[in-house]
Amino acid sequence: MNDEINCDLAVVGAGMTGMAASLFAANRGVDTVQIGVASQIIFSSGLLDLLGVHPVEEGNTWDDPFLALDQLIADLPDHPYARVEKSHILKAFQEVTGFLAEGGLVYQVNEGRNTHVITSLGTLKPTYGVPRTMWNSVKALEEKRPGLIIDIKGLRGFSALQITETLKPVWPGLRHARILFPDMQSTQELYTEPMARSLAVPENRKKLADLIRPLAKDVGIVGLPAILGMQDSHDVQQHLEEMIGLPLFEIPTMPPSIPGLRIRETFEMKLPEKGVRLQYQNRVSQISRDKDAFLLEIGSNSPVSRVRARGVILATGRFLGKGLYADRKLIREPLLNLPVYQPGIRPDWHRFDFMDPRGHLINRAGLEIDDRFRPLDNSGKPVFDNLFAAGSILAHQDWMRMKCGSGMAMATAYAAVNAFIERD
Ligand SMILES: Cc1cc2nc3c(=O)[nH]c(=O)nc-3n(C[C@H](O)[C@H](O)[C@H](O)COP(=O)(O)OP(=O)(O)OC[C@H]3O[C@@H](n4cnc5c(N)ncnc54)[C@H](O)[C@@H]3O)c2cc1C
Repeated sequence: MNDEINCDLAVVGAGMTGMAASLFAANRGVDTVQIGVASQIIFSSGLLDLLGVHPVEEGNTWDDPFLALDQLIADLPDHPYARVEKSHILKAFQEVTGFLAEGGLVYQVNEGRNTHVITSLGTLKPTYGVPRTMWNSVKALEEKRPGLIIDIKGLRGFSALQITETLKPVWPGLRHARILFPDMQSTQELYTEPMARSLAVPENRKKLADLIRPLAKDVGIVGLPAILGMQDSHDVQQHLEEMIGLPLFEIPTMPPSIPGLRIRETFEMKLPEKGVRLQYQNRVSQISRDKDAFLLEIGSNSPVSRVRARGVILATGRFLGKGLYADRKLIREPLLNLPVYQPGIRPDWHRFDFMDPRGHLINRAGLEIDDRFRPLDNSGKPVFDNLFAAGSILAHQDWMRMKCGSGMAMATAYAAVNAFIERD
């Protein structure tokens, strides 16, 4: 085994919650180690939702996420948002987007309002933070400007025809076209990442612009799948716009998505500059106690390293990230065997219709916490004074249907880091 790593705070998980927690901790001078296996799928679609839908049962969408928050907290006092000071929700969002902007990944907001962004299905989704590469669509949609949506032969799950047809009632002047991506003119399935990376080369951008220009003579804007470069997306977009002579916008694709990958890469690049020590090669296999500290073993067969931390933030997500595990009878938290709030018996986990828009009871399972974001034992007391939990592992929320994923991740990470610092 390698040497033991000592730190103040260990953050377990490399989704939005873990990344945000590491950022907040580092910005406040906390010596932090973050452990997790980062996957781009976790950050799809790159949109940063605060709160778009409440109540889920009525599918009620909100233009003002802060009014929605008031209503949500009144209706669902156990929702994790109810434990975060309202002003801190916005502060957390601004601290993360400020950090991303320093890394070249700029997010735009309609101050205090949700923005409706086009999805790969052609529907409109309410969200708060919009990548700059998607922002041009917002005004164009308002103006119903004549536009062209382009798809790419071989790229699955993204049909310009479907998008224009679905958008017709709200944006009638849209046309669609299909192109062959330069130098990838095969009959094989294409993926977004090689396309995005190929646009780092100016010559490839020129070939793409030459394909698009003649198709876009009579329109005022062009929409493309989200492939406009990686960390260089601003330069790629600007250069293509100059060559085509029109504004462009990206539309999120199905996961894994480039805007999600951009977020992940920005965190991975910039967190170490803030002093966060990243351990992204392996998962935490075990957490134990040693006096007042935690010992985290990293790796499974033979642990490659061990971290000793004075506090831990569990940001391990739900089932997708394996922060929770469901067997035939029970939902469990595998690292510390913490009690999990869950529907009584397995038949109660799901409604009859899998696509039921109200969601399923299992979507609200998770850890129950106190006001200091400490997981509770069965008697309602914090399990440990220096163990905190944040993000989608928390109970009483359905981030996917409420459209509050990233916002809740950031806000609860912010609260958990503050709680750790105050306790310290
Ligand atoms: C398909 C999809 C679409 C999305 N679309 C949106 C969207 O439109 N808007 C939006 O705001 N957000 C979106 N999101 C992101 C969503 O915001 C986040 O997934 C959510 O906020 C939960 O984040 P989290 O970090 O709490 O959990 P997760 O994202 O699940 O991350 C948990 C992390 O913990 C790690 N982990 C688990 N156990 C261990 C262990 N033992 N050791 C080390 N690491 C461990 C996992 O590998 C993972 O990296 C989307 C996510 C997905 C998957």
